[in-house]
Amino acid sequence: MVLLIISKSLKMGTCMAVNPLLIVGSISLDTIETISDRRESILGGSATYATVSAGKSADVHLVGVIGTDFPAEWMTIFEEYSQDLSNLDQKDGQTFSWGGRYPEDWDDRETLFTELGVFTNYKPKLTEKNKNTPILFLANIHPELQLSVLQQNSKRECVIIDTMNLWINTERKKLKEVIGYCDVLLLNEFEAEQFTRRKNHDDQGAVLQSLGPQQVIIKCGRKGARLYSGHSVDTIGVFPVKNVVDPTGAGDAFGGGLAAALAHDESIQEAIINGSALASLCIEGFGIESLHRASNNEIDHRKEYLRNTLNS
Ligand code: AMP
Repeated sequence: MVLLIISKSLKMGTCMAVNPLLIVGSISLDTIETISDRRESILGGSATYATVSAGKSADVHLVGVIGTDFPAEWMTIFEEYSQDLSNLDQKDGQTFSWGGRYPEDWDDRETLFTELGVFTNYKPKLTEKNKNTPILFLANIHPELQLSVLQQNSKRECVIIDTMNLWINTERKKLKEVIGYCDVLLLNEFEAEQFTRRKNHDDQGAVLQSLGPQQVIIKCGRKGARLYSGHSVDTIGVFPVKNVVDPTGAGDAFGGGLAAALAHDESIQEAIINGSALASLCIEGFGIESLHRASNNEIDHRKEYLRNTLNS
């Protein structure tokens, strides 16, 4: 049985039972170039997207690090979406920064630069409260850091993990170790192929499940997602977005939404629906702007649409 807390201050409701959710990942100053626009040093990072997405309904405890250059006004975002900032550290140096460029069809994003800044040698020391959170979302970050966070938490009951091509290339062994602790693994279809060296999604799902996770979710962009759970497979479609502005963070918003629903003891299918709804909102604006603006009515509307795409 997971520990239940009652939170009165969450945005989605006045008083609800929810399990605390620990999120670790990058907090970044992103520079993003699309075919028609460019934004410099906007708020990004895997933990940021996941926190904004999850924090709309869940009791988020954020773990991450920022530098002395981090704009003070953006702290209000974390204050709004995270109930616990005791593990948000500020260190001397530059905040992590990343630049990406998208081609016209949005596929094959090019990484322009990655500056680790204060993430170099960052070793979070979880506070007593954060050592006891039952749900962990280890958003995309170095697997060594993911491992260090999960090993400090002795009360973990559900560990959700996301990663990226970089770590599959450079840290395969460490990543495999992290996946061994994982209950729900999230990969996009390119990462699943890269990691398993298999072309077929069913084969990829089987290989990944054999490493530990009971549930593997392969995100297939515009084609939706596939869930491998035990011996069953579920498919889910996407909410049709008319105008994609910036796909950055869609995967992290998906993971945050999924983790939030699991923190509410919802089914894995409902969790995917919540994740997909939030990911669809994320890509309608630059950075977190559209996700931040999204109303509960709009999220509910998209979830209703997505429920009808389950296995159809
Ligand atoms: P996504 O579009 O879901 O892949 O996530 C994009 C976010 O990931 C951006 O906001 C980046 O700041 C962040 N990011 C990019 N590269 C890395 C990395 N090597 N480690 C952690 N976060 C990263």
